Amino acid sequence: MPEISPLTRALRAGIDVDTQHGAVVAPIYLSSTFTFERLGEPREYDYTRTSNPTRDDAAEAVALLEGGAGATIVATGMAATTTALFALVEPGATIVVSKDCYGGTWRLFDRFGRNGQFRVVWAELSDTDAATELIRSEQPALVWIETPSNPLLRITDHRAIADAAHEAGAVVVTDNTFLTPLGQRPFELGADVVVHSATKYLNGHSDVVAGVVVAKTPETHAQVRFWANTLGTGGAPFDAYLVTRGIRTLDVRWQRHQENARVVAELLRDHPAVARVNYPGFEDHPGHALAAQQQLGFGAMLSFDLVGGRDAAARFAQGLELFGLAVSLGGTESLACHPATMTHASLTQEARDLAGIGDGLIRLSIGIEPVEDLVADLRAGLERAPGALWGRVSARPRAWRRSARAR
Ligand code: PLP
Repeated sequence: MPEISPLTRALRAGIDVDTQHGAVVAPIYLSSTFTFERLGEPREYDYTRTSNPTRDDAAEAVALLEGGAGATIVATGMAATTTALFALVEPGATIVVSKDCYGGTWRLFDRFGRNGQFRVVWAELSDTDAATELIRSEQPALVWIETPSNPLLRITDHRAIADAAHEAGAVVVTDNTFLTPLGQRPFELGADVVVHSATKYLNGHSDVVAGVVVAKTPETHAQVRFWANTLGTGGAPFDAYLVTRGIRTLDVRWQRHQENARVVAELLRDHPAVARVNYPGFEDHPGHALAAQQQLGFGAMLSFDLVGGRDAAARFAQGLELFGLAVSLGGTESLACHPATMTHASLTQEARDLAGIGDGLIRLSIGIEPVEDLVADLRAGLERAPGALWGRVSARPRAWRRSARAR
C-alpha cells in the first residue's frame, strides 16, 4: 500500500488505536494523574498538566496538518500566543507586530509593551517595503505575522517578511487561524512557529475554546512544551477531544465554507448599501495576487463597509435572522460581527483609525449552511441599512458604486 498522506493521518488521529477493546474512536483520558510503573519509573504520562494522551491526539493531528515537528494543545488561542512568547523571547526583547491583528492579540502586546515586558513595535506588514525597512532598523527578536489580517483581510507577503526577519535574527510566528493549515502553509513560507485559535475552524463547531502552538523544529517544540507545563496553559482533555473530532471534518467543511464565502462576497459587491468589500478573492483586492500565490484558496472570512456608518451597521444587524451577531468565527454556523464595538473594542479609537476599522465595518464568518439561505438573510439585512434605501431612491449609477468600492 502506498504511504498514507499526512492529511489522512491527521483526520484519523486517535482512530483504531485502542488495543484493549478495539474501540474505533479512542477513549477520552480525563484522568489528571497516572500511576508510576515502579518507584522512579513513570510511564509515558504522569500528570495531565504536563501531557495527556487525548491532548496528544489533537496535537498530532495539527502537527501533521501544518507539517511541523510537534504541536502543543493549550487552553485558548490567547494561551497559544502567551506560551509562544514565553518560549521564544527573553524579557525586554523587541517584537514587531502586525498592527491590525486580532483585538485580543493587540491587547496582550499593548499591555506587555506598556508594562515593559517587551518593546513592541507596531507595523503595517502588508506594506512590504516599509515593513522590511522597519525590521532592518529595529532588529527585533520576534516578528508576529497575521495574514490575512483581522478584520480587514489585508495580505502580508509572508516569504518577504520572514526573510527580512531572519536576516535581522528574529524568529517568525504566524497566526494561521483565519486560513487553517489547509488554506496556508506558513512553514513553507518561512515561519518558525505557527499558532492557532483552535476555537475557530480546527474545532469548527463553536463549542470549545482551545489553542495550538506548532513548532517547526523538535528543539522549539520542546521549549514550547516546557513553557506550557510551567505556565499551566495546557488544554483540557475533553476540549482536545472535541478539537480532534472537529479536525476529522475540516477538509470538507473548509471547502464548503470557501464556496459559500465567494457567493456572499459577490452579493455584497453588487449591493448598493455596501461601500467596499474586503475579500482577497476579488481581483481588485490589493492583496489578491499575493493571496493567489501564497494561499491555497481565499478563505471564508470577509468584511465590508456599509454606506451610512454605525447607524447602518445597527440596522443591518437588526435585520438578520440566520447570521448570529457574535464574535468568533470558523463554526459551521454563519456569524456577523461589528469589529468597532465587538472584537476590536479593546483598541483605542486612535488604534482603530490607524488600522482602518471604521464604524460601518461588518465582519462575516461564512458558515456551511445552504448558501441561498445565507444570501436571502444578508439581502434582508442590507435592505434595512439606510444606504440601501438611499441607493434605491437615488438610483446611483454603477460607476459611482465601483469607485466607492475602490476606496
Ligand atoms: N487569533 C485570531 C486570528 C483570532 O481571531 C482569535 C480569536 O478570535 C485569537 C487568536 C484568540 O483565540 P481564543 O479566543 O481562542 O483565545
